[in-house]
Amino acid sequence: MTNLKLATLNGGERTVVPVDSLRVGEGLTMIAGPCTVESEEQTIETAIAVKKAGAQALRGGAFKPRSSPYAFQGLGLKGLQILKKAKEETGLPIVTEVIDSRDVFWVSEYADVLQIGARNMQNFSLLKEVGRSERPVLLKRGMNSTIEEWLNCAEYILSEGNPHVILCERGIRTFEKYTRNTLDLSSVPAIKELSHLPIIVDPSHASGRASLIPSLSLAALAAGADGLIVEVDINRDEALCDRDQTLTPSEFAHLMEKVRALHQFMASRQ
Ligand code: PEP
Ligand code: MN
Repeated sequence: MTNLKLATLNGGERTVVPVDSLRVGEGLTMIAGPCTVESEEQTIETAIAVKKAGAQALRGGAFKPRSSPYAFQGLGLKGLQILKKAKEETGLPIVTEVIDSRDVFWVSEYADVLQIGARNMQNFSLLKEVGRSERPVLLKRGMNSTIEEWLNCAEYILSEGNPHVILCERGIRTFEKYTRNTLDLSSVPAIKELSHLPIIVDPSHASGRASLIPSLSLAALAAGADGLIVEVDINRDEALCDRDQTLTPSEFAHLMEKVRALHQFMASRQ
């Protein structure tokens, strides 16, 4: 790997990223919530449901990087205010995307973790800005990016002084059309070999299909992922964005049972 200094493992300690009382990279991290914040009721009810099932952080987009400029772009500030309320109600820390370097400072007032989406993985001015932030960063892998390019993007953030980077594998583009992306599971052990940073997997965006999420989740954890970020929505069937890859709260609760069982099994074998 060329030009990497701070992101490499170098025989050193693994990084644990603190997010309130959650420690990403230590044990299992489960992040869940709607693709997009649509209303207060939807977000808070989903937050309550995922917390009950065992999620430790809430995801939800207020700024959505949509392929079409005419698609719903998210509620912006109002969405962030709703996420803050959901945190007040449940105590769950908030993971939310920032898509513009000019927004990093004020979005940090609402976000416990700043998500950099796949489409912005190589937005270098955005990476530098979150690198200057106090907030941990969830850096998604670009859909057309190599592991080396991805780690170089983590390096951008680390080199600005922010040590708290969580990597997220969310699938890459291949010739396969049945799934929305192809989950590159090999990146999980590869990152563990190359870097000290924690890595989680997003089976929702990787597959585009709710039915595939349980198998991909278990496979990701078996491959050594530190956790998962999963789309869950109380109003799944009416969700404006990514409905087909979103679980209902009861499907998520069922997934959590399997995930816990696998995690316990793996811990007992270490
Ligand atoms: C998301 O998490 O809602 C999202 C847009 O993901 P990605 O950037 O991985 O496509
Ligand atoms: Mn989504």
